[in-house]
Amino acid sequence: MQEKIMENIKILVTLQEAEQEIIRLTAVLAEFEKEKKKISLELFEFEDGLNKEKERLHQVESLYRESENEIQVLLERIKKSNEHLRNVKTNKEYQALKREIDDNTKRKISIEDELFGYAEKKEEIEGIVEELEKDFIQLTERIKSEKNDIDKTSQDDSALLGEFKAKKKDIGENLDPVIFEQFKKIANMHDGEAVAQGKNEVCMGCFMNIPPQLFIELQRGDRLIMCPQCSRFLFFNEGENNTV
Ligand SMILES: [Zn+2]
Repeated sequence: MQEKIMENIKILVTLQEAEQEIIRLTAVLAEFEKEKKKISLELFEFEDGLNKEKERLHQVESLYRESENEIQVLLERIKKSNEHLRNVKTNKEYQALKREIDDNTKRKISIEDELFGYAEKKEEIEGIVEELEKDFIQLTERIKSEKNDIDKTSQDDSALLGEFKAKKKDIGENLDPVIFEQFKKIANMHDGEAVAQGKNEVCMGCFMNIPPQLFIELQRGDRLIMCPQCSRFLFFNEGENNTV
């Protein structure tokens, strides 16, 4: 193959190596990000559970306070009724007040039962919330450290990715812009693999036949040849036993 074409192929192979490293490292880094998201979600879900328990606690606390207030109101009413009782004139009035006091007392006892129930429930949820809060602090620490580990591990890959991107840009700047654009398109189609060997009239990229006339041109090396099937840049290795 002629020197100029051979030179271009060499550049394209180097470019291909950089491109494949970029693809590999991008995937590796995406995996790291995915892992970080996954563990963040774990923390988020735990916090969500904790908040639900806290919400449950607030509800019970508010029911507890309501009951307390209601008992207070009933006590006042009973007290007032008892005061009225001393001043009643008729038996009918007396009986009515008595009934009122009885009803309010019954109501008070029933609310006191409820209050007791709320107090127990409150204590139970307080225990749960306290445990969850402790676990949450631990989990937060663990996830922070796991994320740091991931960041540390991915730092090298990230730096390497930067290097390969710079390398790609450098090579691209020294390459014919038309060829560089073609390279990018083809690399996109084939996971970064844009160059293939043409051997025995077969493209080693897609394993389809190269038309004989084109294969002759490839061996002659007058111009850059692309596979008619997969569009990869073809090169011909004179050292190998190719048949025409
Ligand atoms: Zn091909």
